[in-house]
Amino acid sequence: MNIVETRNLAKYYTFDSGLRVEALRGINVNIEEGDFVSFMGPSGSGKSTLLNIVGCLDQPTSGNVFIEGREIDYRNSSNLVRLHRQTIGFIFQAFNLISTMNAMENVCYPLYFNRVPHSRQEKRATELLNLVGLGDRMHHLPSELSGGEQQRVAIARALANNPKLILADEPTGNLDSGTGKKVTDLMRKINREQGVSFLVTTHDHEMARTADRVIKLKDGKITD
Ligand code: ADP
Ligand code: ADP
Repeated sequence: MNIVETRNLAKYYTFDSGLRVEALRGINVNIEEGDFVSFMGPSGSGKSTLLNIVGCLDQPTSGNVFIEGREIDYRNSSNLVRLHRQTIGFIFQAFNLISTMNAMENVCYPLYFNRVPHSRQEKRATELLNLVGLGDRMHHLPSELSGGEQQRVAIARALANNPKLILADEPTGNLDSGTGKKVTDLMRKINREQGVSFLVTTHDHEMARTADRVIKLKDGKITD
């Protein structure tokens, strides 16, 4: 079964001046459940746009996206909310933790939105923070954690609601290479042990080396 399929996906931006930017020009990909796939390509090649559309953070101009065989209806907000709550987790380059919440509270946040009872939130968050090796940092604020530790909190948060798919946009982009490798290895371990599929955009060759598959993009098209 494919976790993600895109058909003739295109995204154009048009400006008042008449200028048109073709960010994606007919993307067809099939990602099998359990795969760890990395998207590589120069800046501006469309990697973030593709990830944002698959993650329902943005809409395509034309074409179709299927998650677990079901087409995303970008006009149906309850469809998008359900995908965000139950199926897809996100990891960002800048970590995007809530700065006033400690590690535990950041991981509890998506559980709270899914109306998980308070006692179960803390139990689940504790398990996840232990899984990412931060059992001794649970009550630290993001500002009290290193970049690598913050990204590990973000990984725990992305896993909170047991997603089938994690989308990670340049997850090692703000980390030095040694820390980046540890984050890459952690994501790969979660992929192998829990069967979560990963789509990762990256410039990082270490990340590409660890992936099952590398898809190269250039000027909004797949090059091989
Ligand atoms: P990458 O992630 O590979 O760096 P992006 O997907 O961010 O590439 O961008 C692809 C192209 O689309 C670029 O030319 C970029 O300038 C353009 N683009 C991205 N987002 C927007 C936007 N919100 N409005 C207009 N153009 C955009
Ligand atoms: P990255 O290289 O990490 O993909 P970008 O610099 O391409 O980051 O994009 C950062 C943000 O700016 C994204 O949210 C993207 O949608 C937006 N963006 C990129 N290019 C443009 C553009 N030409 N006009 C407006 N927004 C843009």
